[in-house]
Amino acid sequence: MAAEKNKLALQVVELLDKAYPEARQELDFSNAFELLVATILAAQCTDVRVNQVTQSLFKKYPCPGSFLDADSAEIEQDIRSIPFFRNKAKGILGCCRILVDEYGGEVPNSVEQLVALPYVGRKTANIVLANAMNIPAIGVDTHTIRVPNRLGLVSGKNPDKIEKALCDLLPEELWNRGNIVIQWHGRYTCKAKKPLCSECAIYDLCQWEEKVEQQ
Ligand code: SF4
Repeated sequence: MAAEKNKLALQVVELLDKAYPEARQELDFSNAFELLVATILAAQCTDVRVNQVTQSLFKKYPCPGSFLDADSAEIEQDIRSIPFFRNKAKGILGCCRILVDEYGGEVPNSVEQLVALPYVGRKTANIVLANAMNIPAIGVDTHTIRVPNRLGLVSGKNPDKIEKALCDLLPEELWNRGNIVIQWHGRYTCKAKKPLCSECAIYDLCQWEEKVEQQ
């Protein structure tokens, strides 16, 4: 049973990688600090909106110290088009304070250190590790919950359990790519409400009873 799931997970990632060679992290960033801030801003917000805001935000505040030098009300104004901008401004400032005081302005490279930062959970931590530092990690977002459930790879909605299950199913070298292509598949094909099953590259592997029959 376990071996079958391992095989299924490998097939899924292989086929999705072929189907979406362009798949990538859609938040714009040029270093780990920028991705940390962008990921905090992205909660309950689209990546497109976040990218619009961070284009000027990162020019104005290129490092943790520059956020700390600014007035918090001004930062709130700079990100006011993002949902929960007040809380997020507070979270970003809290992170910046710790990064400056404890890590010399750098972003730490372990999940334990990252989740100790304010407003940073395992998903954010793993996204930063995987995409900005190339450290194997699986960040479980809504797509990484829905798609593997439909495929029969995992069951349940607990993000920590899904992260562990996917890490067990895939070899470490496929964690980062697997995470990206599964998210991409969930965003563009295996959508929450109306999955585009007729266009699905892994249709034959999908065990979801409600999948829509291909023509
Ligand atoms: S067949 Fe449909 S439900 Fe199954 S993975 Fe593909 S898009 Fe998702």
